[in-house]
Amino acid sequence: MPKAELQRSIYHDEQAALRHFEQLRWPEGPTCYHCGSFNVKRLGGEAHRKGLFQCNEKECRKQFRAVMGTVFEKSHIPLHKWLLATHLMCSSKKGMSAAQLHRELGFGSYRTAWFMAHRIREAMAPGPDGQPPLGGKDKIVEADETYYGKRDKAQQVNQTTRGTPYKRKRGSKAVGHRNRRPIVSLVERGGSIRSFHVGSADQYSVEQILKANVDRESKLSTDESRLYTNTSDIFAEHGTVKHSAGEYVRDWVHTNSLEGYFSIFKRGMKGVYQHCGEKHLHRYLAEYDFRYNYRVKNGFSDAMRTDIALTKTIGKRLTYRRPDAA
Ligand SMILES: [Zn+2]
Repeated sequence: MPKAELQRSIYHDEQAALRHFEQLRWPEGPTCYHCGSFNVKRLGGEAHRKGLFQCNEKECRKQFRAVMGTVFEKSHIPLHKWLLATHLMCSSKKGMSAAQLHRELGFGSYRTAWFMAHRIREAMAPGPDGQPPLGGKDKIVEADETYYGKRDKAQQVNQTTRGTPYKRKRGSKAVGHRNRRPIVSLVERGGSIRSFHVGSADQYSVEQILKANVDRESKLSTDESRLYTNTSDIFAEHGTVKHSAGEYVRDWVHTNSLEGYFSIFKRGMKGVYQHCGEKHLHRYLAEYDFRYNYRVKNGFSDAMRTDIALTKTIGKRLTYRRPDAA
């Protein structure tokens, strides 16, 4: 990434970081965290350095800071280190391991960096309010599934639903899909992506995901997999390409956007996050989805992507307890 960007004072100076975050949080000017009033003033002296504000005496009169209600509020980690960590994660193409983040930050322990990375991923994830559906009239949505990593021992399936044990085909060394972690992704062509780590990639779960996330007026583009046969009637059109017959593109029908995404995801995960516990997989997907959705091609610079991740820390329900070890 460009050195000049990393030299910005917001990544090295606590005051500059605080002012930057205040501007992101209150583009229209500060408002009281407690009552929402615009009738507030910045306090002077020592309080000024801490970014303290006070609500007017005719209002609630309480004090507040820009970081209230975000993970930064009660953190012992300086805000400029949080901003730097967010920037590093937002601008690296393939993600950044906790060890790498720890080195780049020159601060805290490996554990601290690991904790920060997970909190930043939480900010990158969609909020609890849900998102508008992908696609729409005349828009194309690709759906596809992939598998990443082996399932954790406890989640592995050793027999079929009928109770007979699985048998490996004679001479086959393939692990097969049953004990790998299934991922279903949807992408609006030229637009946003949404990825889901599902319990099993079957017709039912795929249908639920499609119904909940894709506008019914969209044109759906998939491969010939049985997973999507049920969903044909839901959408305006459903085109399939027959990968098994060597067909990859026919007219508007292909899954090339998702193939590209899956390949970045897998290369990144292999290179950076070798030991990703199954329960954390959705967090990594949120990270890769976020970078894809705010990619350069869609008009977002590294700095813009960082600012978006920072604003997404606001209003997220955050727990201060440390996440379990990976
Ligand atoms: Zn107030």
